[in-house]
Amino acid sequence: ARRAALAASSGPGRTADGHGVQLLANVGSAKDLAGGLGDGVEGIGLFRTELLYLDRAEEPSFDEQVEAYRAVFEAMGSRKVVVRTLDAGADKPLPFITPDDEPNPALGVRGIRIAEKRPAVLRSQLKAIAEAARTTDADVWVMAPMISTPAEGARFAEECRAAGIATAGVMIEVPAAALRSAAMLRGVDFLSIGTNDLSQYTFAADRMCGELAELLDPWQPALLELIATCAAAGKAAGRSVGVCGEAASDPGLAVVLTGLGISSLSMSPRSVPAVRESLARYTLAECAEIAKAALAAEDAAAARSVLS
Ligand code: PEP
Ligand code: MG
Repeated sequence: ARRAALAASSGPGRTADGHGVQLLANVGSAKDLAGGLGDGVEGIGLFRTELLYLDRAEEPSFDEQVEAYRAVFEAMGSRKVVVRTLDAGADKPLPFITPDDEPNPALGVRGIRIAEKRPAVLRSQLKAIAEAARTTDADVWVMAPMISTPAEGARFAEECRAAGIATAGVMIEVPAAALRSAAMLRGVDFLSIGTNDLSQYTFAADRMCGELAELLDPWQPALLELIATCAAAGKAAGRSVGVCGEAASDPGLAVVLTGLGISSLSMSPRSVPAVRESLARYTLAECAEIAKAALAAEDAAAARSVLS
């Protein structure tokens, strides 16, 4: 029992019977790494690169980008770092690149859709990431935001390979991409589910709208069903499928996600200890039972009560 308690309070994430679940951190720049990530955090599951581009009239220079990425990679030693390419538009407008005349920016030209219109910005970013990766030991993975179709995912992976990046994946934030996750995995190496946007688009509910909190509840069975589809596709293809949205930081939901077959959870570093302790309370088989019951629940409240 003492050993179990110790395992629950430190080290990498695992269930009571030792099934590993990578616990990773969401960061915005090297500044977030100043105090260390805390014991047992196995790497960075979401490096949001928007910060580098904010409050500027032009994109940052190539050298500036290399320096910013290198600072994060160096701080992580040989650990995994999943870099997300520029996610501009909607809730993250950037003056030099975001169209400002869209009636509905959340459904407009954002994320990878901007990159397709301005390919030079994406190419320069991928080259800078590859250069920073080449000169450090970090295990660098790169993923694109707001991918909707397998063709978009495959095009992105090709761009990554052309730039010299070995591991290329996509974020699953659009329901269409979740439904086609098996086809998506034929063209990319991994999936990372962004539950903030996936909730927004599944429920047609603005993620910034507090009044719609009930629809945006990450325990909504419809959201869990899309996650289950992605996890099953990952299992069949032998690929990693992680969650990097807010849902990953909920200790109870972490048990459900693990039971659905999710292989990594990325969150704000301060959320890691509670998630680790929660996972250590259940065997993988128990997680799967709990996940099955949550999926079958009538609504979010009923799904949540499966654990209580
Ligand atoms: C998400 O959408 O869940 C996500 C992780 O990305 P962001 O919150 O930066 O849109
Ligand atoms: Mg998002």
